[in-house]
Amino acid sequence: MRTLIAANWKMHGNSSWVDKPAEFGSILPQSKREGVDVLICPPALFLAAMTANTQGVFIGAQNCHHEDKGAHTGEISAEMVKDAGADYVIVGHSERREGGETNRAVQAKAASACRHGLTPIICVGESLSQREAGEAEAVVAAQLAASMPEGETSIVVAYEPIWAIGTGKVPTIEDIGSMHNHIRKIVGKGVRILYGGSVKPGNAREILAVENVNGALIGGASLEMDSLAKITQAVAVSS
Ligand code: PEP
Repeated sequence: MRTLIAANWKMHGNSSWVDKPAEFGSILPQSKREGVDVLICPPALFLAAMTANTQGVFIGAQNCHHEDKGAHTGEISAEMVKDAGADYVIVGHSERREGGETNRAVQAKAASACRHGLTPIICVGESLSQREAGEAEAVVAAQLAASMPEGETSIVVAYEPIWAIGTGKVPTIEDIGSMHNHIRKIVGKGVRILYGGSVKPGNAREILAVENVNGALIGGASLEMDSLAKITQAVAVSS
């Protein structure tokens, strides 16, 4: 299974950032990232320019609407994301779930992505109070059951404990391992399971070496290409 290193730029960047894949490629040429897929998810505004300038890096969106078209001001459809040349779309990120996005909406978005030839990255993860109450595995199982599109195997799952996103806090290696084993039992073989939440060059090697961690979804540390390259290199070292 190829490892996926996915960068979520969130609402960062400007038009000059379309050159970042080239910068990444010069820091870490493809010959030095055997077995690793690198994906950058910029703000939607930059998708088309970035797919025209990919330099061996996949490009994805951070969200899509579940319908193909219609009166949905400010939204973009999976069909539009595909038309812009992208290959992936993140759905159900906790920052969107916090804004009211339900499992049902996430499932519909993921299904639309699959229909249009995109691979959805379905995000799940527990809050701190849920973890402290011993409910983390049950919460994640329920989110997966309700968010995964039926019968689709071309999906990626990202386990992102909410309390680890952008905080510098990371679960123990044991907790990451047991959650990823738990998710593996639910999603079956062949689905890549990413870990997300404060992955940095300094902890990437240890996290990416855990069984059933098939890559990482990275926010803050993905904005600098040097840091993204170091995280990518950690895979090569650990595999
Ligand atoms: C994320 O937003 O998906 C994320 C994992 O962010 P960070 O790496 O900054 O914790």
